[in-house]
Amino acid sequence: MNKITNHLPTAELQALDAAHHMHPFTANAELAAKGARVIKSASGVWLTDSDGNRYLDAMAGLWCVNLGYGRHELAEVAAAQMRELPYYNTFFQTTHVPAIALAERLAELAPGDLNHVFFAAGGSEANDTNIRLVRTYWAAQGKPEKQVIISRKNAYHGSSMGSASLGGMTYMHEQGAMPIPGIVHIDQPHWWAEGGDMSPEEFGIARARQLAEKIDEIGEDKVAAFIAEPIQGAGGVIVPPDSYWPEVKRILAERDILFIADEVICGFGRTGNWFGSQTLDLQPDIMTIAKGLSSGYQPIGGSIVSDRVAEGLSRTEFNHGYTYSGHPVASAVALENLRILDEEGIVERVGTDTAPYLAERWATLAEHPLVGEARICGMMGSLALTPDKAARAPFAKVGEAGMAVREACFANGLVMRAVGDRMIISPPLIISRDEIDLLIARATMALDDGQAELSRRGML
Ligand code: PMP
Repeated sequence: MNKITNHLPTAELQALDAAHHMHPFTANAELAAKGARVIKSASGVWLTDSDGNRYLDAMAGLWCVNLGYGRHELAEVAAAQMRELPYYNTFFQTTHVPAIALAERLAELAPGDLNHVFFAAGGSEANDTNIRLVRTYWAAQGKPEKQVIISRKNAYHGSSMGSASLGGMTYMHEQGAMPIPGIVHIDQPHWWAEGGDMSPEEFGIARARQLAEKIDEIGEDKVAAFIAEPIQGAGGVIVPPDSYWPEVKRILAERDILFIADEVICGFGRTGNWFGSQTLDLQPDIMTIAKGLSSGYQPIGGSIVSDRVAEGLSRTEFNHGYTYSGHPVASAVALENLRILDEEGIVERVGTDTAPYLAERWATLAEHPLVGEARICGMMGSLALTPDKAARAPFAKVGEAGMAVREACFANGLVMRAVGDRMIISPPLIISRDEIDLLIARATMALDDGQAELSRRGML
């Protein structure tokens, strides 16, 4: 790093950032007026900013730092790999040891016959791979008309043209003529917001049956795949009613379409098992992976593909790939990350100890006057903010309450994210019981402060 820049005071760093750096999902003029928060270093679950403030990072960066910050083993593996082979591609009939080793390890960890990995540099790229892969698979089976992919409203599958089209975020679709053709969306299993008078169980079944109805409407002979996150993450950590996935599974079992589980957030321990598909008892044909695969220490993602799909594609040249597919440094770091998650029993500890403890503590937040529901699965949780609990009412202007509580979180040394008026967490998996207590204490203070602020604004 440029040593002079690193030692500039915060205001100067912010000015340079505003002058030259375009931030994702940001109105840059608004941010420039305020100044971006400059994060300088991190360790465990703790972030330190350029003014020396410390925050408990209850978002693990962007849902990715599963192992926590500051694991030097990963830095050492990266440095060693850079010295030995910093880059080579996996095109043109070549391969290298880190990609081989990581693919083998993933095949071992993934459930069922998911034994083949197509690498990418992140989740968006991997989902773009999936769009082309499932369509090419069906064409190779002599069924080129099986092209349509069914996804869900308020799903998040990435930000590229293909993956954002798979996603169900209309505010993204509005920018850049999306969705691309051949992608349709059914409703999400979000009972609190959309369940009306139905019980959660009835609603879960009703939402699952939309999949059957959509397949029948389009024609099974035209549908390539259904894609879904086991638990919707960026849509607001929407934990579906218990009836939802079993009914979806039943519907899929009766129809010959592929199922893609987007495990970019749910994978690598987040739900208390290696994959969300294991927690929710799903049998995908393809899993999208990224984020926790390397705990965010290197950009890497991919698609883990079943024997059936890989075999069906094996005689077709799949004209697809990325310069950084199976990048050796990223692969070596991912492998080391998986080793530590496994050998230190971190995934297991989440499943048997820290996630149940967090769930117990998280549930207490539902008693707060501002909270309509508190949902959690493993180490991903959400709170619905509401002006009227009994009516499950949204705020008149969506997003203001979420923003107020998010600001209050920062003021209380906690990073929680707001999706509209849902507060969400996804902490590093190494979070301890004491740190969970601190997380809950700070979240409670932030909710109190947020409530006071919203009352001042006349919103309650
Ligand atoms: N799928 C899911 C479920 C995600 O949450 C994300 C990122 N938040 C992506 C795909 C896209 O991954 P990336 O940002 O690495 O492209």
